[in-house]
Amino acid sequence: MPTLYSGYMGKVVELDLSSQTTRKYPWTDEDRRKFIGGKIIAAKILSDLLTGHEEPFSEENPLIISTGPLTGTGVPCSGRFNISALSPQTGLVTSSNCGGTFGLFLKKAGLDAIIIRGKCAEHTWLEIDNGRFTFHSADDDGLWGLNVTPSQERMAALLEEKWGAKRKFGQMVIGPAGENLVLYAGIASDERAAGRTGLGALMGWKNLKGISVTGNHEITVASPEKNKAWNKKFFNILRNHPLTGKQMPRMGTAGLVSPMQMRSMLATRNFSAGQFEHFDKVCGETLAEQHNIVNKGCVSCPIRCSRTVNLDGKPVKGPELETLGLLSANIENDDLELVLRLNNELDELGMDTISCAGTIAWAMEANEKGLWDNGLSFGNAEELVQTIRDIAQRKGIGDELALGSKRLAERYGGEDFAIQSKGLELSAYEPRRAVGMGLGYAVSNRGGCHLNGGYLVIVEGLGLFIDPQTPRAKADITMMFQDLMEAVAAAGQCLFSTYVFFPSILITRPNGPVTTVLNKALPHTGGVFRAINKFPLAIQMHMPILPHTKAFENATGMKMKMGDFIRCGERGYTLDRQVSVRFGVGAKDDKLPKRLTDTPQDPNNPSTKVPLDTMKKTYYQARGWTQEGRPKVSTLKKLKIV
Ligand code: SF4
Repeated sequence: MPTLYSGYMGKVVELDLSSQTTRKYPWTDEDRRKFIGGKIIAAKILSDLLTGHEEPFSEENPLIISTGPLTGTGVPCSGRFNISALSPQTGLVTSSNCGGTFGLFLKKAGLDAIIIRGKCAEHTWLEIDNGRFTFHSADDDGLWGLNVTPSQERMAALLEEKWGAKRKFGQMVIGPAGENLVLYAGIASDERAAGRTGLGALMGWKNLKGISVTGNHEITVASPEKNKAWNKKFFNILRNHPLTGKQMPRMGTAGLVSPMQMRSMLATRNFSAGQFEHFDKVCGETLAEQHNIVNKGCVSCPIRCSRTVNLDGKPVKGPELETLGLLSANIENDDLELVLRLNNELDELGMDTISCAGTIAWAMEANEKGLWDNGLSFGNAEELVQTIRDIAQRKGIGDELALGSKRLAERYGGEDFAIQSKGLELSAYEPRRAVGMGLGYAVSNRGGCHLNGGYLVIVEGLGLFIDPQTPRAKADITMMFQDLMEAVAAAGQCLFSTYVFFPSILITRPNGPVTTVLNKALPHTGGVFRAINKFPLAIQMHMPILPHTKAFENATGMKMKMGDFIRCGERGYTLDRQVSVRFGVGAKDDKLPKRLTDTPQDPNNPSTKVPLDTMKKTYYQARGWTQEGRPKVSTLKKLKIV
């Protein structure tokens, strides 16, 4: 029996692409209890393997694909898997969470995780069948050079030909952007993507075009009856919640454009403003009315947030809020059909839409200010399809744009308006109108990421309305949200399932007495959050706002009360930071461009900027990190990671 716990397959494999050999990686039940799965497993493995001297593009940089114990168990929103490595874009530890079916089939192949080391000598694609690894030539099989959809179709056809029959399988591939080492190239799996921080470029550097995986191992759960009954309840909670049952299924994340506009949070003209004059032409409502064909979802997901839209008579994946905002308001483009086209182009070439769009917005401003003569300008988006193709092929200015805004600002100047943190471009939420989100962007382990940053914008105007300009309590709430989301992702569930954390009444009655009191009270509750963050293990119960913990226990048989869950999340978050510290990261890197910290968005309202230094100080205290942004030894000991 490889493990006492259900939900796990009991096997982590290390694959060396250089020698084409595999070996079992030691992974014990104690590791499972401490690190759960997904991104926290990966954080621990990276901690074991990386010394702080490795380069992202090197054989020593492992690409770790890991699942959570809930992946594929039928628990709601549990079709997720994780990819981690040292990021080519930030040079730091990173992880990217992805939907699709790859995670499910990796477990059906009998594996919890694969650690991919080394580099293929030739362009290669990899087949995993019930734990057996077969290498194929990506050149001979006509895969290298293909866009994302043709790559997946070609791989499917090759497998069907080989098997002589259709079998179900999962796959992940890179597009030309990954092959050509665009620093923000992503990895696609079905229609979903592990988009952020350039993991596609690492796959490209390893000469690995794609991976298919299949198998017929059974994924067991500890208490099938309890699991079934709780899943039913959990599905109903999600279906009856106003965010996961109504807004997300109707408009997906695109539904946030309008409230963001209302709150001056919609990044506009390279984050120089928070409202876009023509937002009504590009908002989620217009997208749903004019272009949406059908909703789609990942495995076991009742939310089904993905939108399929019509483009040139063909159904294609529609844009998420981040892409919609950054390819419209942030570059002053009011042509929604063009946004769909650019989004599709980026998906097909295999690039992170957020970083690409953020880099282009920076380049437009750099051109306008005379720093870099590149021909790009705000409001002129027609030529961007070609620009994006040039980025993927590393041609002309595309070769430079492929480096991202941080490196370009170091080359040409304009660092104050390069809207990135640790080299990762920010999402479309303008943090000067949601200062807690600003803190999250700055301290996030993987760089300017709203999710890894704690996603505080949700309580600063997009769900609740805690005073978006006050720094009070924001650091402590940020820590709690980061840790909770860390644990949810590590378990194998989608972060959108955490919307149920907010009781429905708060969303349906935004001006009701309960919501009003809570909004007013929360900035004064930093101490309460601090106490919970400090002593989470005191919460030895399941809480109705977090159905995830009971689902976890039913599926795995492992004790996981709310306090245990928060502690596991804290362990993962701190471990990521600790490994990045080996690469020199610290408080000096937890920063935002001056535009966001020094210049008020509204010149008549000095509070409309991010008071980062004040919040960082409290955040480090809350985390038990030094004021240099490094976990203290006592914190590492408390978390049992030394
Ligand atoms: S909410 Fe959306 S991204 Fe998350 S699992 Fe469901 S369909 Fe996938």
